[in-house]
Parts: sequence; C-alpha cells; structure tokens
Amino acid sequence: MKPNRNPLPVRMWNRHNSWNEAETAWDQRARKLRNSFPLKGIRHWRTLPGIRPSTRKNLRWKALRYLLENDENKVMSYFWCKPLLHIGKMIRSYWSSRSYTRDNDFFLYGFSSAEAFTRRIEHADTFLIIGFSYCHKPFECPSGRFTDDCAHDDENPVCGQCFIGKCVHAMPEKRCRPVFITTVHYIAEKIIEAIHAHPNKEVVFLITACELTLEMFGDWGNSIALRGIGVRLDGQICNTMKAFEASERGIKPGLAVVLPKTQQRMLDAIAVRRHHKTAS
Ligand code: SF4
Repeated sequence: MKPNRNPLPVRMWNRHNSWNEAETAWDQRARKLRNSFPLKGIRHWRTLPGIRPSTRKNLRWKALRYLLENDENKVMSYFWCKPLLHIGKMIRSYWSSRSYTRDNDFFLYGFSSAEAFTRRIEHADTFLIIGFSYCHKPFECPSGRFTDDCAHDDENPVCGQCFIGKCVHAMPEKRCRPVFITTVHYIAEKIIEAIHAHPNKEVVFLITACELTLEMFGDWGNSIALRGIGVRLDGQICNTMKAFEASERGIKPGLAVVLPKTQQRMLDAIAVRRHHKTAS
C-alpha cells in the first residue's frame, strides 16, 4: 500500500473569516456543481438491516478470527505490549452486552455521550483522528476509491460535492489528522502510529464505518483503551461477512453514505475542534 501523502492543498476554511462564511461558500458551490456535473449516486435506495441476523450469530468470535488471520503482527504486537492491562480491558468489554453506547448514528466507545466527546476534543492534550471509509468516496473520486489518498482538490468538481472533501477542508491542521480508510487493519495501524507519535496526548477518533465493522471491532478498541466515535454509514453497506471481506479487498460496487443529519453532527464536532484556541 502507498504511503499516506496527506495533508495536501490549503484548506478552504482557512481562506474565510468564519465557519459560517466558509460553509455557505462551500454549500453554494456544491449546489452549482451538482447541476453542472451530477455524480453517480444510489439509483435504487433500499433500507438494509445494519447486520443480517445470520451474520450477527457468534459475531465476536468471527471478529477475533478475522483480526488474527489478517494481522501482520502490527495490531497484535501493540496489544501484547501491555498484556495484563489489555486482556483485563478485553474481558471487561466482552462482559458487556455491547462494546459501545449508541446515540442514533454515533457509536460511542469510552464516552458516555456525544457531548462528553466534544468536551474532550476541546482540550489541547488530545489528538483527533478523523477517518473516512473508502466506501463513501464518490465513484468518480479522482484519488480512486480503494486507496488511502484524498486529493480534496479545490478545482475538482467531484471533490467540490464530496462530504469527505468538505470535512477535510473544514478541519484544523493542528492536532488533527484525516485518514482515508481502506481496511480495518489500516485504520488500527494509523491510530497506533498516532499514539506512538503523540505520547503526551490522548488519541481520540471520529471515523465512519458500516455498522457491522463498528460492532465487530469495538471490543478490540476497548481492550487498548481507545476512545472515540464510530459514525454509522447508510446506503449500500456491507451487512454480511462475505460483503465485509470482499470490501476489505477493495471489492465494493455499492455506495455507502453518511446521512444528512449525521453529516451535520460530524461537522459540528469538527467545528468544535477548529474553534479551539490552539487550532488553526
Ligand atoms: S474530496 Fe472526495 S472526491 Fe475528492 S479526492 Fe477526496 S474522497 Fe475523492
């Protein structure tokens, strides 16, 4: 896999005097682009169950097996660096019926509420990873879908309509990093890298993913005391193990989406971070 080449262009929000001014300019441009350069969307919307009932059976065991079979010893080596602590936290997570607290499309890990998360990211001693699953990149994405790249190109009519592009242009450069997620192991490795790179900060995450992924890997995040929010994707999601495993190899013919209300909640969290006095 190619090394991450981000961050790239000057972020559009930096060229405006306020959040509202920047967002209005972005939205007006996106509306114009939708008329002149319409993107392929979801042609036949069907509401799918987040996880098929047969897939839900023994899901924790399936998650464990998948993680072990596909790890190149990067995630597990971090787990084994403090075995007693991590095993203890893992048992505690398994003991609970769920590894998260759900608030609509927000799956909260280690936080009691979305407000507790936003209060935490206001603090200068946190490093925020904002991750986007490749499954909701537009089909026309100039960086390609199954890649860890995002050009968020100001001049590109696809980027100008893309929710991921909007978030990247809105986020501050300091103590905040966008990650474009190809696989479960990829995002785990990026978070572990950030933990090593920022030993004096708490690394927290805000990442988009299908409900199946959020359900499967929550225990593992809890075991290494990772805290953050998983944002549930809708649309053409993976809700079986077969679809999940294919998507991990880049086979994802459908388009997932962050629902409009949930987009707003993500942007609200980014705005909180951006307005922090040490954010740029
Ligand atoms: S902003 Fe969207 S369309 Fe543009 S490169 Fe990034 S993911 Fe692709």
